[in-house]
Amino acid sequence: MHIVLLGAPGTGKGTQAQFISKEYNIPIISTGQILRNISKETTNLGKKINKIITNGKLVSDEIIIEIIKNHILQHKCKNGFILDGFPRTIVQAKYLKSIGIKIDYIFEFILPKNIILERIKQRKIDPKTGLTCKNLINFNKSSNNNPENTKKLQTRSDDRDEIVQKRLQEYEKNFVHLKKFYIKEFKNKNLEYYEINNLNEIKNINTKIKKIIKKYQNI
Ligand code: ADP
Repeated sequence: MHIVLLGAPGTGKGTQAQFISKEYNIPIISTGQILRNISKETTNLGKKINKIITNGKLVSDEIIIEIIKNHILQHKCKNGFILDGFPRTIVQAKYLKSIGIKIDYIFEFILPKNIILERIKQRKIDPKTGLTCKNLINFNKSSNNNPENTKKLQTRSDDRDEIVQKRLQEYEKNFVHLKKFYIKEFKNKNLEYYEINNLNEIKNINTKIKKIIKKYQNI
């Protein structure tokens, strides 16, 4: 099963990706996460990517396609995968199609801009895993309320307000074309396209996604 999650930064793609991954035993390929890992390296590529991410820009299609190609090939993607953060441009979408990957479902996460900004402001990451901690309450639970662990949480360098605004602009600019491309694919019955209102509770959204997938698996 090949699933693509679309949606602006901070709309909750990563959270749902983790649920879907566990439920269907398919790996998540998160390009943001992969790029953040590379950006920590002291190589030329690492430095280059770090600069791009911290400025809220997109990494070039050539670089990201090379990375994604290796991941799809190397990852244990026998049962499929969940793409979080890819494709982000029309060139990337066309690339995916050109290598013969049949996308089954696209879930587009939708959230009003003011809520996105609010959620990103509160977002913290665990520096060890790079994973987002939804909020401190959740993190405290998983770290047994150890204040030392909570202190270690970090804010993503690109989650500063002015950079978030830039990322949102960048997203909107590309998304118009991306959505047009995939709606056409949907109309041609090549894939299923669903809009997901992420104002709903995390659990409810997960249930909704599972219901959608079940519906088609039963056909
Ligand atoms: P968000 O969805 O919150 O913006 P991500 O973790 O998905 O965060 O991505 C972080 C950054 O990584 C992006 O702002 C961009 O610079 C880079 N990036 C991630 N995926 C892609 C992609 N498919 N193409 C180009 N750049 C990407």
